[in-house]
Amino acid sequence: MDSKITMEDIVSLSKRRGFVFSSSEIYGGFAAIYDFGPYGTELAKNIRELWWKTMVQENDNIVGLDSSIFMSSKVWEASGHVDGFSDPLAECKKCHSRVRVDHLLEDAGINADEKMSDEEINKLLKDNIDKITCPKCLSNDFSEAKSFNLLVKSNLGNFTGNWNDEPTYLRGETCQGIYVNFKNVLDSSRVKIPFGIAQIGKAFRNEITARQFIFRKREFEQMEMQYFVHPDDAKKIYDVWKEKRWDFYINILGFNKKNLRWSEHENLVFYAKEAWDIEYKFPFGFKELEGIHNRSDHDLTTHSKHSGVKLAYRNPKTNEEFMPWIVETSVGVDRMFLAVLTEAYHKEELEDGKSRVVLKFPFKLAPVKVAIFPLMKNKENLQNKARELYDKLKLKYVCEYDDNGNVGKRYRRQDEIGTPYCITIDFDTLEDNSVTVRDRDTMKQQRIEIERIDEFLNKKLN
Ligand code: ATP
Repeated sequence: MDSKITMEDIVSLSKRRGFVFSSSEIYGGFAAIYDFGPYGTELAKNIRELWWKTMVQENDNIVGLDSSIFMSSKVWEASGHVDGFSDPLAECKKCHSRVRVDHLLEDAGINADEKMSDEEINKLLKDNIDKITCPKCLSNDFSEAKSFNLLVKSNLGNFTGNWNDEPTYLRGETCQGIYVNFKNVLDSSRVKIPFGIAQIGKAFRNEITARQFIFRKREFEQMEMQYFVHPDDAKKIYDVWKEKRWDFYINILGFNKKNLRWSEHENLVFYAKEAWDIEYKFPFGFKELEGIHNRSDHDLTTHSKHSGVKLAYRNPKTNEEFMPWIVETSVGVDRMFLAVLTEAYHKEELEDGKSRVVLKFPFKLAPVKVAIFPLMKNKENLQNKARELYDKLKLKYVCEYDDNGNVGKRYRRQDEIGTPYCITIDFDTLEDNSVTVRDRDTMKQQRIEIERIDEFLNKKLN
């Protein structure tokens, strides 16, 4: 990533090139909700597929799950979300913006403990008021902080309109769907501990401060894997997953090491034994990208207690019975999307004094793999030849056909959406059946025979 890249660069390219749009934009937008445009949809799909391949397909003992967004409210009562899933909120008395007090404190270098009561957090706020400023108007005059529950309520199944009925929640995290299906998976498949269940799906949170584009959304998507282990193996397995997830960013996504770092949770939730985040250097600084947590036996014990269903595991060989511990890896599609976009974004000065913006996505993540250009628009024989190649390649790769404007302009456009290769069909092609293949990163061109194009591209997929 170029150090001069700003959030504005990313936001403006995202809109201009159809990666991300504000939701309901023609009605003035909808805070902290975003839509993926045509290229964003491809990129998000590629991110999900790559995660799934590395987590599920390549691991013999990890299986997939697709649980529903709606679950019994009892799940959220048992998990503690109904009572405890809250952030402390205060209002700036000057500009009336609502801010998360833990974030205000964090910005001032003070860590607030998740377990703090409203009184404790208010005391911390008061004691440090000189170090704190409203991010919007820089004032430090705030109302008392109050806890605000993040669960999003719905009226699903409430046909009476009687709001005293128990509300149904949109899930606040995908992992609860995994915990409540632990026994189903165990009983219906051949998995044995240690094994994992992976899931990709939407989650909803009434996030108070909706800042930083798609970094913090109210409707977002998580990719979570819960690994069920024997308590004695938890620490060892936890360390393995830490390493594997770090490796994913460095060796599979090809991120620069300088843009990643580990951060240990200073204030662990009471049940967690160890928790580290992988932080990425977003344009607004290092922030959490993915969490890797050792959650002890808390989740299955809690759901056993509340549901009355025994969730302990019996080792089929030794007959030992125990409550599995859980090692979790959890990352947002949207946050990975923003990190991938930031990492790929480059502004380059060219030899001719001009500059270009280029997204250097890894081939597997690029929304469009190859663009096909007939050199000129009004030559039927060039068009036919280009169409023929396009119709063949599009069966295997996401391709784009472009005959608009001069070739230089077409290159710039493909650079901005991160297309690794542009293929031009010119008059020589009609004679020698070769095409010009231009590389996005080096901008070098080479002639390749049409017959060898698939082989050339296929190598990049692996
Ligand atoms: P934060 O401290 O940023 O609020 P968190 O610690 O609450 O995040 P988790 O509940 O551990 O996050 O969620 C796991 C992952 O899900 C995060 O690492 C992040 O990638 C993603 N995530 C969480 N909340 C959001 C959100 N509001 N928008 C987008 N992604 C999110």
